[in-house]
Amino acid sequence: MEQRIAFNKTKIVATVGPACNSREKLKELALAGVDVFRLNFSHGSHEEHLQVVQYVRSINEELGTHIALLQDLQGPKIRTREVENNGVELKAGQELVITTERVLGNSHLISTSYEAMPQDVKSGDMILVDDGKIELRVERSEGNKVFTRVIYGGILKSRKGINLPMTDVSAPSLTEKDEEDLVFGMQNDLDWIALSFVRTADDVLSLKEKIRKAGKYCKVMAKVEKPEALKNIDAIIRAADGIMVARGDLGVETQMEEVPMVQKMIVRKCNDIGKPVIIATQMMESMITNPRPTRAETNDIANAVSDGADALMLSAETAAGQYPLEVIKSMVRTILSVEENMPSIYFKHENVSEQSATFLNDSIVLQACRLAKKVKANAIVGMTKSGYTGYRIASHRPKANVFIFTNNRPLMSSLNLLWGIRCFYYDKMESTDQTFTDITNYLKEMGCLFEGNILIHTASMPIQAKARTNTIKLTVVD
Ligand code: PGA
Ligand code: MN
Repeated sequence: MEQRIAFNKTKIVATVGPACNSREKLKELALAGVDVFRLNFSHGSHEEHLQVVQYVRSINEELGTHIALLQDLQGPKIRTREVENNGVELKAGQELVITTERVLGNSHLISTSYEAMPQDVKSGDMILVDDGKIELRVERSEGNKVFTRVIYGGILKSRKGINLPMTDVSAPSLTEKDEEDLVFGMQNDLDWIALSFVRTADDVLSLKEKIRKAGKYCKVMAKVEKPEALKNIDAIIRAADGIMVARGDLGVETQMEEVPMVQKMIVRKCNDIGKPVIIATQMMESMITNPRPTRAETNDIANAVSDGADALMLSAETAAGQYPLEVIKSMVRTILSVEENMPSIYFKHENVSEQSATFLNDSIVLQACRLAKKVKANAIVGMTKSGYTGYRIASHRPKANVFIFTNNRPLMSSLNLLWGIRCFYYDKMESTDQTFTDITNYLKEMGCLFEGNILIHTASMPIQAKARTNTIKLTVVD
């Protein structure tokens, strides 16, 4: 059987698009080290996404991997509509009118799909178009039109993103399109559902409530890319199952120079409470057209790993670039180099919160990780039904390999996003003794453990009760 070569602890999320959406290409990327495929619902039809879901699941079956699927909902993204000749020139100093009426744009009048724009903006607000390349200033609104002055001009193409960093956008967090896409995500049991432009914890909680009501278990990831989200960051991190530092829009909506500190702040807060965090956007941007990254990009990846990210994300690099496979290989090499040579990324053994309802179990997991460090264990094993133990072990960033055993199949791919976690299926919960022996033998057979290795088991006794972790056992493999 073909085997994955990479066992980096920091995971890789690759966006699927025309450059990699055949079964053959997806398998190549999977073998090279992708842990999560991201389906970007800003593009593509449901049929196309469904095909990818089926490919990834069949690749998982073939390779014995648990690659996760992440659905990225577009959220209240604001765009321009079509313009004539697929590009019009805007000059600094000129007036530009933005209308909500459906018209083909020209160099004096363009159209937006965002109906509430004339009501939401106020005079003096900044409007950024196409990733901030074009800057406009609002002068006044009238009816369905916004009158603006061009500050920085350029060529405006069709369907470009608009950011309103100074405006309270009144659009709901889930648009009609998102609602339809969400049904697709839930019907297909996608592991993670990411919501763009999250502003408050309520945005996250109402999405979670919809998923719960549908009887589904999809995890919710909040994409932090608005200044409002930064104001509410603690509540958002608590509400979400994971966080994405979406540097693309964040760098337009806030000062780009603040993003490095915001990245570090969010990663630290997520690490502290054991929530997975993804660093996204422009990590390997130059590889869209080049077979090698720049030194600065390699440094950015290394810094994100060193900050403590659970996963790093690729967008156009894998979705639309010329070198998707080289991108993954290069990223794997950089991650491994940091993980081998930078001791400071391991052993986050701060005390767990006494206020937590799971304080006692959290303490056991913490001690297991401390013990693993002390005895230089080769592996830590967790047993979980809910996945919680996986989140707790990952949060302590042990140097030992982390193997999670569960009888909850859907969990195996959803946990695959977390730092260092590798999942295996196990459902023979007869006695604790038997389970420890079974698991040790199984890991030996899989080539994950060798004679003389030290293994720390965590488990819940009695095993049939399937309760939270309350036991630590140390095994020397014979
Ligand atoms: P996007 O999100 O690629 O969906 O815009 C990521 C980002 O903004 O960085
Ligand atoms: Mn974005």
